[in-house]
Amino acid sequence: MFRKEKAVIIGGGISGKLAARVLSDFFQEVLIIERDQEPEGPFPRKGAPQGEHIHALLHAGEAGLESLFPGITEKFYSSGAIKINSTKDLAWFHHGVWKLRFDGEFSTILQTRPHLEWHIDQYIKSIPNVTVQYNQVVRDYICKETENIIAGVEVVDGSGHAENILADLVVDASGASSITSKWLEKREIHIPDKKAKIGLSYISKTFQLAKNEDRDWAIKIVYPNPPVEKMGGTISKVEGNRYLVTINGYHNVINEKEALLNDKSFLELAKKLPKLDIYQEIKDAPPLTGTSIYRVPQITWRQFQKVNLPDGLLLIGDTICRIDPVFGQGMSIAVLEALALQRLFQKSDHSIKKITTTFHKKAAKIISPIWNMVIIEDFRYPETTGKKPLGLFIQQWYAKNIFLISSQDQHVYNSLFKVMNLIHSMTTLMHPRILKTVLKRTFLK
Ligand SMILES: Cc1cc2nc3c(=O)[nH]c(=O)nc-3n(C[C@H](O)[C@H](O)[C@H](O)COP(=O)(O)OP(=O)(O)OC[C@H]3O[C@@H](n4cnc5c(N)ncnc54)[C@H](O)[C@@H]3O)c2cc1C
Repeated sequence: MFRKEKAVIIGGGISGKLAARVLSDFFQEVLIIERDQEPEGPFPRKGAPQGEHIHALLHAGEAGLESLFPGITEKFYSSGAIKINSTKDLAWFHHGVWKLRFDGEFSTILQTRPHLEWHIDQYIKSIPNVTVQYNQVVRDYICKETENIIAGVEVVDGSGHAENILADLVVDASGASSITSKWLEKREIHIPDKKAKIGLSYISKTFQLAKNEDRDWAIKIVYPNPPVEKMGGTISKVEGNRYLVTINGYHNVINEKEALLNDKSFLELAKKLPKLDIYQEIKDAPPLTGTSIYRVPQITWRQFQKVNLPDGLLLIGDTICRIDPVFGQGMSIAVLEALALQRLFQKSDHSIKKITTTFHKKAAKIISPIWNMVIIEDFRYPETTGKKPLGLFIQQWYAKNIFLISSQDQHVYNSLFKVMNLIHSMTTLMHPRILKTVLKRTFLK
């Protein structure tokens, strides 16, 4: 079996922790370097500011987390996460129609992102050969230039004290602020990428809702009907009997300055959603937090699998791909990548070079269909810039039909649900039964 001495992970976010869990079985020592302070509880933190906004955990992500951290799902529930029936307790207005609601085969966990991450933190703490060094920033790689090997990292702490840490493998899980692309560019290694400008802003706030016997949902999504509507919103029950409301808008449609002015301006924003449902729920509800904002001007997929990287370097999570967050896939992609990494280490005693090269190819295979699915939707807005996929129009037409039919046909909605939750591939939506339904809807209307 593969066994090496030390792995260093840059960043203790979701991907860093997942990588640590996997590598702890194959390295004697795993060290996570995290620039944030050690969290004191399930609270938002500076290094992952997106944690103040709604974070859905898709099915594939949930199942993968449970296999990597056995028992974690129960831990989520025992500290207040909410278990819902995925198709009954979700009220979803999508492309101008409400989805069917029925007692289906799937459940979903509702919780905040900090709550989810906190439980992973507790698990990581229980792994004896994993250590986290907080308040430390990785600012450079140590490279054996002649052999083209990354041999470790240069770390600096809050007082400016620098230290070199050597390792057999360095994992970059530092997300948006990763130093890797620039570092490689200095060595004339240019990473090809795919990008799309989407001008997305997220604005969120948490509320205490009054009890209401008629409230028959735990999460309600009002999704825009593009290209005419650009704003959507979600209200979700989360741990602590609170309701987190996130409003998002594409192509800078939200006047951020105005939205952040005061509590009333958040309500005004909710009034602009395609349906007034969310506004009605929160208009008299006491806010529990201030208003948070997060901007995603563009999405980027860095294709590290296409270049010859130095030996000893592996990239994971948002460092590779920052996808449109509206579809709730980022954390689940990280989980799927971690599982792919685990399989690679389990079945091979190959060199680190072979494992990292294969991993980057596998990660690309995980990301590719998800990126395609997302980009089809993002390009419904003519303002979205970037390289359009082949057959865009026909894919948009087909997807739109599936969305609309999901308001009437349980089988079609169930199939869409499985695709959106990364359980099944998009091709399953081309099943003859579904294809026939789409064609019938188009030509026999
Ligand atoms: C607004 C918004 C909403 C989202 N909603 C969802 C959702 O509903 N569902 C979903 O699955 N995903 C969602 N995502 C995506 C999800 O947040 C990311 O995919 C996920 O956080 C990626 O984790 P990561 O560990 O790769 O990166 P990050 O979460 O960015 O973590 C990187 C970590 O590295 C640390 N770090 C950075 N640089 C250094 C350094 N030089 N040295 C040491 N430490 C460093 C940071 O402090 C941080 O802890 C959303 C994203 C956004 C922006």
